[in-house]
Amino acid sequence: MPKLEQNPSPSLKASRSSYQYGSKKGGNNRRPRTGTQVTPNNTLLTPKKKVNIIPPPESGIIRIIPLGGVEEIGKNMTAIEIGDDIIVIDAGMQFKTEDTPGIDYIIPNTTYLEERKDKIRAMIVTHGHLDHIGGIPLVMNRIGNPPLYSRNLTILMMRKRQEEFPQLQALNTNIVEKDSVVTLGNIRIRFFGVTHTVPDSMGIVIETPFGSIVTPGDYKLDQIDGKVTEEEEKEYAFFDKEKVLLLLTDSTNVENEGFSLPEIKVHEGLDKLIKQGNGRIIIAAFSSHLTRLMKIVEIAESLGKKIILDGRSIKTNMEICEQAGIFKPKKGTIIPIEDVDSYPPNKIIILMTGAQGEEFAALGRVANKTHKKLTLKPGDTIILSSSIVPGNEISVQHLKDNLTRHGVRIISYRTSEEYIHATGHGNQEDIKWLHRKTHPKFFIPIHGWHSMLVKHKEIAMSLGMSGENIIVPDNGSIIEIVDSGERIVMRKEKAPSGPMMVDGFSIGDEQDVVIRDRVMLAQDGMFVLIATIDSSTGKLRKSPDIISRGFIYLKENQELLHQVRLIIKKTIEDGSKGMNPINFDLIKTTLGDNISKFLFQKTAKRPLVIPVLLSI
Ligand SMILES: [Zn+2]
Ligand SMILES: [Zn+2]
Repeated sequence: MPKLEQNPSPSLKASRSSYQYGSKKGGNNRRPRTGTQVTPNNTLLTPKKKVNIIPPPESGIIRIIPLGGVEEIGKNMTAIEIGDDIIVIDAGMQFKTEDTPGIDYIIPNTTYLEERKDKIRAMIVTHGHLDHIGGIPLVMNRIGNPPLYSRNLTILMMRKRQEEFPQLQALNTNIVEKDSVVTLGNIRIRFFGVTHTVPDSMGIVIETPFGSIVTPGDYKLDQIDGKVTEEEEKEYAFFDKEKVLLLLTDSTNVENEGFSLPEIKVHEGLDKLIKQGNGRIIIAAFSSHLTRLMKIVEIAESLGKKIILDGRSIKTNMEICEQAGIFKPKKGTIIPIEDVDSYPPNKIIILMTGAQGEEFAALGRVANKTHKKLTLKPGDTIILSSSIVPGNEISVQHLKDNLTRHGVRIISYRTSEEYIHATGHGNQEDIKWLHRKTHPKFFIPIHGWHSMLVKHKEIAMSLGMSGENIIVPDNGSIIEIVDSGERIVMRKEKAPSGPMMVDGFSIGDEQDVVIRDRVMLAQDGMFVLIATIDSSTGKLRKSPDIISRGFIYLKENQELLHQVRLIIKKTIEDGSKGMNPINFDLIKTTLGDNISKFLFQKTAKRPLVIPVLLSI
């Protein structure tokens, strides 16, 4: 029996070589990664990191560190450090992108906090959206499970999510309400209610000796035609007397002019469309737009229609709302999908997931006829009550095409005469209103891509703020308010900020090796060569085996393969000549180099080359 040379784990060898040859592509943006080990099951063990030498803030200094959400939309997290106390706000997640194939999701880098665990007094969460709570289970575990504070619905949503991680410690949750006051360490903290697409969204006021630090979390104004409602004015009224030292706020919609469309207009639009429809109505919406979903159920009840909930996240979220006591559907309003044919079509409204064209979401399955319990028919109306998240345009187009083939009527956001969707974030006029209302001394724009933060800075300056009082951060920037609250500065050191990628059961900021391999595999495929060497003579025992996937069609490239085999033979036999014992690692490296070079010359492609040597 041939034995695998020198190492008991074939995957170990393969992974190493894949890195070695992989590193040739793309040149200098790839750091050498000596010291990273790959274990047999392919999880990465990162070398012990250097201890961070960022000193603690001196007395009288307030430190603010945006750890995520300021170079992207998603994975929001900010730390506030005063004296011996650290308060963390939100721990979001971000979904994978084209740059991170195969990754489940990304969470903020928590290294700075991990090194200062015993100073963390609390995690405070503004609301229950995944870009604010998605990282909670893994982040809390890494930063020592500090007490968690938020409003009731948000706490229930976090608990529900935690159930997916039974191996982790239970959350230490504390419910606060919008008028609660808590003292954590030496810091007094208050809250206020904000309007967003999910109930129980709240802003945070952190008191300091020089004034308060304020963040509203995600918000838009409850207003009609620019007139802010009385209740909303009341929520924000305390700012008239508040001395705001620093405002940190959302930049998501900073490029949109005017005020955000109020949700009430969407409710009116949906109400009208539902009344007009004389067949079944299927509404696909973000499962996170809880306010809208609950409103649709209310509309159905007012018209004597039945509601079917289809899709796991919609069902779960509505259950949580019921549990929180904010959603009380009448008995019999919500019916199981199995009963869809027991009522006339004009009595049925189906709420579904999948408006982004996700293939396996409920609407996607209906569209491509793989839904087991529902078949579309002419007369059905489908309302896509959501915007298209950038990057999903093609999937949504496929979805619409597939739906159209069923002869149904589709009403979508851009083409509808009625309002069927509104964003949950404030536009420019909402943003200006907030700045005027809070009249902060200093300002840090957060939540958005860099260009959005800069735009937000310009808006603040157009309202009269001095550029010196505004800092546009990157993830990990360490910002300090110094001189007894008189100046805001950015330190030259940065907190570690590389994204932590969650890939199956492993988490790390060093997984770019794996990601890089996936990108290469996706681009140019792989090329595996297996050679059997006689360890006593250094000669090949037989012609090498070659396996390729996604690279070239082997049957039509016999000449190329022939040359590859000659290079393998020559490389191995030259490399082992006069050697005893044979240095298999060296031969493998040379072999990978030679074959990579040759394949690139012949095909202009750079597949992942994986040499496997067997010795007998
Ligand atoms: Zn939100
Ligand atoms: Zn958000």
